[in-house]
Amino acid sequence: MVLKLAGCAGHAGFGVTAGKRSPANEYEWDFNNKVILAFEQALKKYEDVVFLRTDDRTGRKDVSLDDRVDKANRWGADLYISFHHNAYLARWGTWTGTETYTYLGSWPDAERLAGYVHSRLVEAYGLKDRGLKKADFQILRETKMPSILLEGGYMDSTIDIKKLRDDKVLRAAGYAAASGVAKYAGLKKKVTEKPPTKPVQKPKPEPKPKEEDDMLKKAIVINGFADFPVAERLALKLKAPVYLRSIVKGQKVAKELYVVGGTKDGMVADKVTLLSGADRFETAAAVGEFLK
Ligand SMILES: [Zn+2]
Repeated sequence: MVLKLAGCAGHAGFGVTAGKRSPANEYEWDFNNKVILAFEQALKKYEDVVFLRTDDRTGRKDVSLDDRVDKANRWGADLYISFHHNAYLARWGTWTGTETYTYLGSWPDAERLAGYVHSRLVEAYGLKDRGLKKADFQILRETKMPSILLEGGYMDSTIDIKKLRDDKVLRAAGYAAASGVAKYAGLKKKVTEKPPTKPVQKPKPEPKPKEEDDMLKKAIVINGFADFPVAERLALKLKAPVYLRSIVKGQKVAKELYVVGGTKDGMVADKVTLLSGADRFETAAAVGEFLK
């Protein structure tokens, strides 16, 4: 079963919707949109969920509530979530807080969804908990599936606007809403596959020979462990040990050095052969050529 989730950012931006802005002329849509984008992104971490955004995601067109409701109903959405931010008097004040709405009457599923989302949302915004509320909003009334409407905080509050202007808070709010939906619907997080890791033997640094005559004839220097598989082939052929650059830098460990990855910088030897390319694939090619 795939969860069909529909939702919207309230209104539109760019002055398309009359009003719906802070006393400093910031559009509600911008705040709403940042939250819904984070919400959408967070949903990607879960299995078996698809999301339909019923508004215009560019914010240039205010899709009517009728159309938003229609899209969700025709698509057969399982849940609906609408993202808003509040306003009280459209002038600065100290009213504050986060609230989550369901439609008038008793709607146990919507209320349970609202509960899971709301508690997380309050934490994300870090504002006063104004609680779960009920209202005769069209988007709640006419959508056929459990639906909730979020009012993250007040655009015309000197307290709340600080949170609304903080993208980190709005992102956290989107993640919080996704987490609440996941809890309600029992969504499972995707298992992220790690690339298979091959155990790499760390080459043992050998003690520095006491006398020149004791000194190794040949040694191989790698830049990092990524170069080791290539260097190993060379080591077998030359019967020479492999050293990490950081270990042999500035000291003489062999008469001849073969550098596999990186430059000759800091290499001390009678002869230094450079077998490095621009990246480890080119380096592998250079070594291959040398071994021919
Ligand atoms: Zn609104």
